[in-house]
Amino acid sequence: MDHALDKLLSKIKSQNPNSDLDPVKKAFALANAKHEGQFRVSGEPFIMHPLAVANILADMGLDTHSITAALLHDVVEDTDTSEDDIAREFGDTVALLVSGVTKLGKIPYTSNEDQQIENLRKMFLAMAKDVRVIVIKLADRLHNLRTLGSMPEEKQRSKARETLEVFAPLAHRLGMSKVKMELEDLSLKYIDPIGYYEIVDKISQKQSEREEYISGIISLLQSKLERLDIESHVEGRAKHFYSIYRKMFMQNKTIDEIYDLFAVRVIVNTDADCYAVLGMVHELFKPIPGRFKDYIAMPKPNMYQSLHSTVIGPNGVPFEIQIRTWSMHHTAENGIAAHWKYKEGKIGKTDIDSKLEWIKQLLDIQKDLTNAEDFMQTLKIDMFSDEVFVFTPKGDVVSLPAGATPIDFAYAIHSAVGNKMQGAKVNGKIVTLDYNLQNGDIVEIHTSNSVHGPNLDWLKIAKTSQARNKINQWLKKENRTENIAKGKEYFEKELKKSLIPVSYMNSEEFFNKLLTKFGFCQIDDVYATLGYGGSNATRLLTKFKELCKIDMASKVDIKDIAPEQFLVKTTSKANNSGVIVEGIDNCLVRISHCCNPVPGDKIIGYVTRGRGVAVHRRDCINITNANFSPEEQLRFIKVYWADEVESNFQALLCITATDRHSLLVDITTITAELKIPLKGLNARTTKNNLAIVEISIEIKNTEHLDTAIKKLKNVSGVISVVRRRQ
Ligand code: MN
Repeated sequence: MDHALDKLLSKIKSQNPNSDLDPVKKAFALANAKHEGQFRVSGEPFIMHPLAVANILADMGLDTHSITAALLHDVVEDTDTSEDDIAREFGDTVALLVSGVTKLGKIPYTSNEDQQIENLRKMFLAMAKDVRVIVIKLADRLHNLRTLGSMPEEKQRSKARETLEVFAPLAHRLGMSKVKMELEDLSLKYIDPIGYYEIVDKISQKQSEREEYISGIISLLQSKLERLDIESHVEGRAKHFYSIYRKMFMQNKTIDEIYDLFAVRVIVNTDADCYAVLGMVHELFKPIPGRFKDYIAMPKPNMYQSLHSTVIGPNGVPFEIQIRTWSMHHTAENGIAAHWKYKEGKIGKTDIDSKLEWIKQLLDIQKDLTNAEDFMQTLKIDMFSDEVFVFTPKGDVVSLPAGATPIDFAYAIHSAVGNKMQGAKVNGKIVTLDYNLQNGDIVEIHTSNSVHGPNLDWLKIAKTSQARNKINQWLKKENRTENIAKGKEYFEKELKKSLIPVSYMNSEEFFNKLLTKFGFCQIDDVYATLGYGGSNATRLLTKFKELCKIDMASKVDIKDIAPEQFLVKTTSKANNSGVIVEGIDNCLVRISHCCNPVPGDKIIGYVTRGRGVAVHRRDCINITNANFSPEEQLRFIKVYWADEVESNFQALLCITATDRHSLLVDITTITAELKIPLKGLNARTTKNNLAIVEISIEIKNTEHLDTAIKKLKNVSGVISVVRRRQ
């Protein structure tokens, strides 16, 4: 055991010579004592697992806090040691890392749709608080996968799947490609053993041939580089089975079509050397067009940097070459974990700045970073600080905005769950409805059919618009009866104000069309919305009133309406024209000269623009023959004759008679007898010996006129007496 510890310590020393080794020794002693008597499924002492995890981290060059935490990562979960014990003995940082890893271990995993898996990955990051927790967790998972062989088959497959779906993508996101590739290769072996061994077979078939080929290229490159005086390391690149698997089985390529099966890597000291090596390689071998990538000038989002090219090697076999500096190499292999290796002042300011840039980009942190303290702060993950990830009791992940409450959770599940919510439990304990959900909480909502439903207070507690909308919806519905009554009263008042008969509401033509147009099913919905104060119903009401008025106007059939129908009791008085205009006193009334109505004639008023009400006979051709627009139709107004009319009215009579001597004298005698003032007279004779006499007279009313017409008809020789319209 001591030998194993010494190996770990010297590894740490070689990576970071200034490291304080005491906490590591102390942690090893504690873990060794606490796990005493515990064994892994493989049969080896349990301590071998935390020790292996610590070694993986030491190889990456991680700091001693992380390595100490790695040694202790299972003691809280598996022994009687508490988090407080750890904090007391090793300080807050180590305690935080250990508790972070413990918490991540408790996240239930359910293979589900893509969205769920993405949420799960985000939750890991959000829960970790410190990115080192993830790095430790990845190392933990890596060792568990390396030793998965002793587990039952079912467990192997589920662990492997979880690794492929959650852990490998996390490692990729943090730029830790070495861990990612090993996790993928190990997982593949358990998920598709047949496919895996097929690839292993195919690759090993020509293993020696390939090794010979690659070593030939390596020595050729090495001699060229020596001549160029470039200090370099040249190696054959390790095979990544999972990427070959994907190319073969998902992109349907044969093994011969996979270029990077043969791969060479050149590692140099400076960026300039990288390009010098590239030039030399392209001079030596013919590059395949379109296969060159400059990730030095354009780093990948996870800060991967290298030059890539595929060239035609000896015997026409293509191979891929990667060229990078040592710093790039370390970043390429260990990603975010590479930071600790260089943080002990080994590198210049610009390098630090560029790494800060990376962390900033990776963690989406906007703060300015000036010193090492700030730097460590940036490692605290607040990538998803505006989101919180919680579980349903079934293990589905629900993503909510930070500060969300059980109310938000309930409505995120289903509005029925929210509306019937009686209470909530978080991690098995009853909480108040305004409890702030935390990452990883398992939330259980208790519902009951006897629950009355949400109330206005819930609107204040809920954080999501989804929950608030649904609560609002429910409140609207719940107070429906009250709202309907309120809305109905309002609606009818509005109609009364606009003199619209309520019967219009029963008209399908009007109402049903409008209901559909404004998205209502029935009139009660309109009332309810009006009562609630919904603007949609107000718009409907306005439109309805407008349409009713137009319809009312268009339906006034001028000829058919008897004057009696207009004899509405009114306070209006007749003005000196003898015409009463309904509802209006003292308005200017003009007797129209196109038809010259007299009292007793059926009449109608037309509100002119600025010249008062023009009174026409109802049968005036200007009224009956014209086409009025709906707007003009609205200008018609009810008018009727006053009971006692003082003034006289003009009438034009056309008398047709057999022409004879003294005809005109007889006619004028009649008008004189009737005391009808004669205002004009025009007479002519026709070819067939008829006389046409037109007289303009002043009369009091139609009765008066009828008498005159009767008398005139009795005059000898008169054939007809007709009142002319104009
Ligand atoms: Mn573990």
